[in-house]
Amino acid sequence: MAEKKQILVLGGGAGGLITGNLLAAHGYQVTIVEKSDYHLFQPGMLWIAFQGHSPERYIKPVAELVKPGVELVKGVVSEINLADRLVRLSDGREYSYEYLVVALGAAYDYDAVSGNKELLERFGDFYSGAEHAQRLWQSFSSLREGTLVVAAADPSYKCPPAPHKAAFLAAETLRKKGLLGKVKVVLALPFVHEYASKNLAEIIAPKLKEAGIEVRTMFTVESIDVENKKLYSLEGEELSFDVAALIPVHRGPLVKVAPEDAVDDDGYFKVDKHTLRIEGYDDAYAVGDCNNTPTSKTGVTAHLGGEVVAERIMGYDAVFTGRTNCPLVTDGEALFVISDYEHPPVDVRFSKFKRLLEDMFIAMYWPSLRDPEKWSPLFRAYFEATSPEKLAQLGW
Ligand SMILES: Cc1cc2nc3c(=O)[nH]c(=O)nc-3n(C[C@H](O)[C@H](O)[C@H](O)COP(=O)(O)OP(=O)(O)OC[C@H]3O[C@@H](n4cnc5c(N)ncnc54)[C@H](O)[C@@H]3O)c2cc1C
Repeated sequence: MAEKKQILVLGGGAGGLITGNLLAAHGYQVTIVEKSDYHLFQPGMLWIAFQGHSPERYIKPVAELVKPGVELVKGVVSEINLADRLVRLSDGREYSYEYLVVALGAAYDYDAVSGNKELLERFGDFYSGAEHAQRLWQSFSSLREGTLVVAAADPSYKCPPAPHKAAFLAAETLRKKGLLGKVKVVLALPFVHEYASKNLAEIIAPKLKEAGIEVRTMFTVESIDVENKKLYSLEGEELSFDVAALIPVHRGPLVKVAPEDAVDDDGYFKVDKHTLRIEGYDDAYAVGDCNNTPTSKTGVTAHLGGEVVAERIMGYDAVFTGRTNCPLVTDGEALFVISDYEHPPVDVRFSKFKRLLEDMFIAMYWPSLRDPEKWSPLFRAYFEATSPEKLAQLGW
């Protein structure tokens, strides 16, 4: 017989922790099911892989990130039956619920590009966990000459400026070591311009040039010959490398879902884009990377979506706007890619102040997950002050 939970949250990542902790702060009984003992601050993988930071900085036990009173269940979710309100774990445990919040993030499909698995084994990457990021640092930092390629296997991946950030951080490390030029950084992108949106490409391209980063546009990696160190693109081009890091193809979480049409062809939960309710169900929501909202997959969208879902469960008419705030960090400066459902990315400038803001956001990450009720007003003020409507008129 399934044990009944009031609020059952699946996944203890950014979205699951914000939703669960907010509801717990308001007196709800919350259970979070998470397969891992540790939470990884995913942007940290960039700093581990390209600047040699220690992984410990970016990893914390999940148990330290849940509020007292939240029940943390360690286990792998294998099946979600929305019609029967039943969640099954891989060890056979079963739970039912009054409200379900799916926050299982995105999964990676390493078989989608032939050679991806071998590439990951050989050089590591900056998407697949701290160990792989450390392996990439070992591969990258041992280069004394040659070419580092940062590439993507698909135009849709978490945090759209992440490959740019990777290239800038790598170039900064090489410059500090006096190796920039001897080691070339090549950014291979599946876009027509240097960024997915043309206006930002025009802002970012001069910075890439200044940093000595070579860009190959319209290069969607289709296959990799790891032995001969070559990437081949869907567009029919090839690119040689000494070390390469590929952003793998993303898909929805690897769980069995009933009914099957609750998820799209890529396995993402179909939700109403404003309420994040799973289509056809009043008692089930999907937050963050695991849903099919037409916005970028980022920690900020998971955070804001989690707040909306918590408020809706509390009875408020909260609405998710699709707001993004993706940081792109260069050597000493940063900008934020800001958009929502109604506004494509607005024109923004690089500045030292934004780099300071980004460093502050990173420092605020852990407390904001555990105590979102204390930090949300501050974030809300920031998001209101930098709303795409305002920035479209004022610039930033
Ligand atoms: C290199 C990189 C840089 C990034 N930079 C930024 C940035 O600067 N700013 C930003 O806003 N975002 C950034 N992101 C994106 C951000 O990290 C994600 O969008 C965010 O973590 C999504 O939160 P989530 O809760 O949806 O998923 P996740 O945080 O991935 O959490 C999902 C959780 O579910 C658990 N889980 C999965 N399957 C199961 C299962 N079957 N059973 C039990 N538990 C399971 C996982 O262990 C995980 O804890 C970056 C991502 C990467 C990879």
